[in-house]
Amino acid sequence: MPAPDFSQQLAELAAAGLLRRRRSLESSQGVQVRADGAARLSFSSNDYLGLAGHPRLAAAVAEAVARFGVGSGASHLVSGHHALHDALEQRLAGFMGRPCLLFSSGYMANVGAISALVGREDAVFSDELNHASLIDGIRLCRARVLRYRHGDAGDLEQLLSDTPARRKLIVTDTVFSMDGDLAPLPRLAELAERHDAWIYADDAHGFGVLGAAGRGAFEHFGLAGPRLIHLCTLGKAAGVSGAAIFAEQTVVDWLLQSARSYIFATAAPPALAAALLASLDLFEEEAWRRTHLRALIARLRLACSDLKWRLLESETPVQPLIVGENMAAVELAEALQRRGIWVPAIRPPTVPPGTARLRISLSAAHAAEDVDRLAGALRELQ
Ligand SMILES: *Cc1c(COP(=O)(O)O)cnc(C)c1O
Repeated sequence: MPAPDFSQQLAELAAAGLLRRRRSLESSQGVQVRADGAARLSFSSNDYLGLAGHPRLAAAVAEAVARFGVGSGASHLVSGHHALHDALEQRLAGFMGRPCLLFSSGYMANVGAISALVGREDAVFSDELNHASLIDGIRLCRARVLRYRHGDAGDLEQLLSDTPARRKLIVTDTVFSMDGDLAPLPRLAELAERHDAWIYADDAHGFGVLGAAGRGAFEHFGLAGPRLIHLCTLGKAAGVSGAAIFAEQTVVDWLLQSARSYIFATAAPPALAAALLASLDLFEEEAWRRTHLRALIARLRLACSDLKWRLLESETPVQPLIVGENMAAVELAEALQRRGIWVPAIRPPTVPPGTARLRISLSAAHAAEDVDRLAGALRELQ
């Protein structure tokens, strides 16, 4: 057997304009960053509330590290579970009004939870644009998988009526990460009720952002109930890393006993839980972050309304500008880059072929002038 060699595959990606590369940040995450040796105005992170580089989070970590060190040393069920993890779970449960279980990342939560919730005799109903981590979680669970058209509750209803199964789990992003649109959660909740199904909702882009208090998509829609299982990630608006699944107590207890990505992984450093406690303080004390973010979204949409490229319909901080061809999207991103503005080009397979786009993401740390600068640059480049 020859030695592993992927030069052919890499050359093919390069020829298709699909080769991805990393830029190295030399500053903290934020809207004014240094990356690859240059200052940039960034519209490229999921740090929607501007908390990732916040000094209060940094101070909380420093204090916790000084007291408790860095590593957790083991998985939660062995000896890595720290009182700070407990404190964070309790704080999150109080904030959301439901018990929860912490995971080290959203990807791990999805991969571990879905296979703990359903198995061979069950059926999973999955929006066709679901995040890769949900798709991977679904692959692992061995249930029958039925994909429904994006956001199409009618299509889902048909599938729910036609499918006999012990358990039915509807799996969806709340805010679709590359389109910024919302799942029709009120309709999905009705269907879950009528067809005796559960909903597993991935609120990675809604938690902290949607709803008056930042409790996410269910608060935004005024929904609650035992059928709803709510995954919130803590590396986006919350500015740190990790995830929590909110559900009925027995569901949370079951996940703790059976989610393999919970059981067989080292617990996150306890200091990160301290940072997240600081982050939740800021969720509560600084509601202006959400209000300001909403104003920025409206401002960007108005400023981009006369461009030759179209912004997808979105009321969230994810504002995708559809360019079309891969190379054209990359060239537009590079032209912005030369003007000191960083907006990532997103290409297939992350999005469907022919819909390469700039994924503009807004943060409460942006000023109105930052948004105007981006819109002005796009106007010059069209
Ligand atoms: C980012 C993201 C995840 C993964 O969360 P991590 O904490 O980054 O692992 C899961 N689902 C969606 C929709 C995401 O955007």
